[in-house]
Amino acid sequence: MATGALRLVSPAKINLFLSVLRRRPDGAHEIETVFERISLCDEIRLAPLKDGKILLRTDCPGVPDGPSNLAWRAARILQEKYAAKQGVRIGIRKRIPVAAGLGGGSSNAATVLLGLNRLWRLRLSRKELLRLGASLGSDVPFFILESPFAVGRGRGERLRKIKAPRRKLWHCLVKPGFSISTRKAYEGLKKVKLTPPQADVKILLRAIRNGRLERFPKLLVNSLEAVLGKRVIEILKIKKELTRQGAAATLLSGSGSSVFGVFASRAQAIRAARFLGKNKQWRAFAVSTF
Ligand code: ATP
Repeated sequence: MATGALRLVSPAKINLFLSVLRRRPDGAHEIETVFERISLCDEIRLAPLKDGKILLRTDCPGVPDGPSNLAWRAARILQEKYAAKQGVRIGIRKRIPVAAGLGGGSSNAATVLLGLNRLWRLRLSRKELLRLGASLGSDVPFFILESPFAVGRGRGERLRKIKAPRRKLWHCLVKPGFSISTRKAYEGLKKVKLTPPQADVKILLRAIRNGRLERFPKLLVNSLEAVLGKRVIEILKIKKELTRQGAAATLLSGSGSSVFGVFASRAQAIRAARFLGKNKQWRAFAVSTF
C-alpha cells in the first residue's frame, strides 16, 4: 500500500422501523426511523494525490466512477469548503448490493468524509462532518455518527444515538433480482393514505435492548411496504421462506428491495442464508449488528 494510504470499511444499514409521517411542501418526506449498522461492508482505499485530482474506481459495473458517485462528491465538497489542495485516489470494493435500501452510496460518502478528515488533516469536528453529510444525502449522517443504532427524524438526518444492546442482533438479509430506486418508492406514496403506525419506537428500542425478539413482529414497521406494487409477490415469497427458516420477524429495509429476517442466533442466520441463497435470483447474507 502507498505510504499514507488508508484502508477503511464502509458498512451497510437496515431500518428496523421506518414510518413516513408526512410529505413536506418541498417534496421531501418527514420520517421516523430506527437505523441499525450491519456487518456487510464495502472496502474503501484512500491514497493521497499531490495534484489535487479526485480519481475514483469501483469494481462494480453499475456504479458510476466520476462526479455522480456520492463518494466522489464527498471528497469534492471537502476540497471546495476547506480549500484543500490535496487530491485523492479512491478505490471502492462493492460488497453492498446497489439500490437495495442498504445505504451503500451514503455509507461510502460518510467513510470518505471521515477518512479524508484524517488523510488531509482537516481537523473537522463530528458536528461539522454531520452537517456536510446531511448536504450529501439524508442517510449519510447516520454513518458519520459511527454508532450501531440510532433514531432518525426529519428526513432521517436528525439523529439520536441509541446505546447498543448487550447482545448483537443476527439477520439473514436477502436481495432479490430487482432493485428499487428510493425516489420512485417515495413517489409511490402519493397514491396511498399515510396512516400513523400501530407500533411505537420507544417500545421497539426497549425490545432491542432486552433482546425480546418475540415482540418484534408487532414492532417492526416500514411504510414503504405499502407501495411495492407487483413486486410485493416476490417480497412476500422471501418473507415466507425467512419465516420458515425460523425468523422471529421480517421486514423490507428502507425503500427496498432488500428484505431481512431477525434470528435468535448466528447459526440460525447462517443456515437461513445458505438455504435462501440456493435460489439463483436471490443473494443472501448472514449479518449482525456492527
Ligand atoms: P439509499 O437507501 O440511501 O437510497 P440504496 O442502498 O437504496 O440507498 P445505493 O446503493 O446507495 O442505494 O445506490 C443508489 C444509486 O446511487 C445507484 O443508482 C448508484 O448508481 C448511485 N451511486 C452513487 N454513488 C454510489 C456508491 N458509492 N455506491 C453505490 N451506489 C452509488
